[in-house]
Amino acid sequence: MTDLRDLLAVRPGKTSLAGIDPRSTPGLPDDQAIRSDPKEWSRNQVEAIGRDLAAYQERLFAAAKEGDSRERILLVLQAMDCGGKDGAVRTVARGMSPAGINAVSFGPPTEEERRHDFLWRIHRALPPAGNVGIFNRSHYEDVLVARVHELVPKDVWSQRYDQINAFEAELAADRLTMIKVMLHISKSEQKKRLLARLDDPTKHWKYSPGDLAERALWDDYQRAYEDGVNRCSTTAAMWYVVPADRKWYRNWAVATLLKEAFADIDPRYPKVSFDVAAERAKLVAAP
Ligand code: AMP
Ligand code: MG
Repeated sequence: MTDLRDLLAVRPGKTSLAGIDPRSTPGLPDDQAIRSDPKEWSRNQVEAIGRDLAAYQERLFAAAKEGDSRERILLVLQAMDCGGKDGAVRTVARGMSPAGINAVSFGPPTEEERRHDFLWRIHRALPPAGNVGIFNRSHYEDVLVARVHELVPKDVWSQRYDQINAFEAELAADRLTMIKVMLHISKSEQKKRLLARLDDPTKHWKYSPGDLAERALWDDYQRAYEDGVNRCSTTAAMWYVVPADRKWYRNWAVATLLKEAFADIDPRYPKVSFDVAAERAKLVAAP
């Protein structure tokens, strides 16, 4: 199988979101089971991938705790409302140990956060060595919502792309592997999902009347997303666009991207600093 990352990576300056069908399913393996029941196939795959992720995560954690590895992973998720960020977080976090996962959601900055530059709160939320971080929204909101709503003047947000690239290059040099995923849904799929939220009392908490105002700005957001992913897809930290109208594909794709990143890092259990045989002999002889 070719690397899914190759298929979904944003080619800087060349990726048009309008040219990516949110219902498409690039990179699926040639597997008869997909055609008969794609959802069942995806559940099984995601479960198997989850076992690999859990094994990788444990080695990543051990290598930092007992060794001197600084490796860590950060999955960044961005999407329009109802794009499936929460579902993707649940999917990839499921198999891993909660102790080694740092999942963080970013909302409108607090008063304290607003007194600092836009990357301040991001710095503070980065996963420590050996951990897997998941960002539900991120510093990219500062070139998305901040741009669309002109929360800051154009000369401020337009400089942020370079600032983000410099920031992410520094992190990459410090052994942080960042996987940036835009979950790409269609406007009609969003309408369906917003309606489903309104029709289900247990989902009302996820809805906000402001969501409709954001939806009205759909085209502005698509332009802002397109610029963001094109200008900030670098060798230090690539953007991947995951077609996300089909949840079963989205879950498989995000889990697969994460697994591929882990495979590159290939974390190993650290070498122990004690003599295992001697320790064992002492323990056996002990009362
Ligand atoms: P939700 O993810 O649905 O809980 O909504 C979070 C809200 O926070 C979204 O409307 C985002 O646009 C908003 N948000 C996140 N980051 C920022 C930011 N840096 N500046 C302004 N609004 C933000
Ligand atoms: Mg929301």
